[in-house]
Amino acid sequence: MNETFNIHEYDHYLIMFSGGKDSTASFLHLLDLGIPISKIELWHHLIDGKEHRFMDWECTEDYCRKFADAFLVPIYFSWKQGGFEGEMLRNNTPTKETYFETPDGLFHSGGKGKANTRFQFPQLSANLSQRWCSPYLKIDVAASAIVNQPRFNGKKVLVISGERAEESPSRKHYLFFETDRADNRNGRKKRHVDRCRIIHHWNEKRVWDIIAVYKIIVHPCYYLGYGRCSCKWCIFASPSQVATSFALSPKQGAKIAEYEKQFGKNIHPGIDLGSYSSKGLVYEGVFQFPSIAAQAISRNYLLPIFCDNWILPAGAYKSFHNH
Ligand code: SF4
Repeated sequence: MNETFNIHEYDHYLIMFSGGKDSTASFLHLLDLGIPISKIELWHHLIDGKEHRFMDWECTEDYCRKFADAFLVPIYFSWKQGGFEGEMLRNNTPTKETYFETPDGLFHSGGKGKANTRFQFPQLSANLSQRWCSPYLKIDVAASAIVNQPRFNGKKVLVISGERAEESPSRKHYLFFETDRADNRNGRKKRHVDRCRIIHHWNEKRVWDIIAVYKIIVHPCYYLGYGRCSCKWCIFASPSQVATSFALSPKQGAKIAEYEKQFGKNIHPGIDLGSYSSKGLVYEGVFQFPSIAAQAISRNYLLPIFCDNWILPAGAYKSFHNH
């Protein structure tokens, strides 16, 4: 912990809000710490861009919007034009523009970089230069949206993200507090930007406990049995997660499998997506809760955000890789 860090000293609190349990807990923790809601913004990066859905859950965008509405907190979406699929299919072209919503409307930046060719899925690696989805579709998008908004110039901004040490060996080494890459405190813009991983030291129980206290209905995927609310077809998904995603969205799965053939390279080294999926079992939640399954793959989230009788979802306490 940085000894000079005082969480109450910022003008803006930007929560990188995926719609998953950890970013939800980070937001609720800020409320518990007494940060005025008028200074908080939720920021969600649309992995697939604005139009179609290829890798991500259909309901996530609207779930995040309804969550923000329920707390009367603003939410701003940002995305790379063409999203995951567009970036994956780059063929001697620059990466596309970043679009970002702001209080003053929609803006865009970038899209004039070096030409490059991908034609492959992100590689399963902690190295972000190979696992291109996180940097190109989230980290760079956030940084671009901060540095291109003059409203942050001369202000103190705290970026909050929900990584926790217990999630993985690489996340264990992430810092609780550091200067954010969008910082310009010594430059012309005088934009002071720090990053705080506010629940870095929390265990999963503490995450579910705060969600239970606020009686939040979490993202539908958790009730189906997914342990993490990542992309529906996350490259790190276990065989059972992929089997469940195939059961929910067979056409999407077939399209991803077709791309593996086209690229001559699988997501999971040495095994195609269909064979990988056959090593797992479809989560029972899909059969037990067909209406939640339908909700998960709908662009409109119609369930409430709060409930009276909170229950722990089936996906709680599942190790990411083993179930
Ligand atoms: S959730 Fe998985 S597939 Fe989606 S951006 Fe993150 S690492 Fe990539």
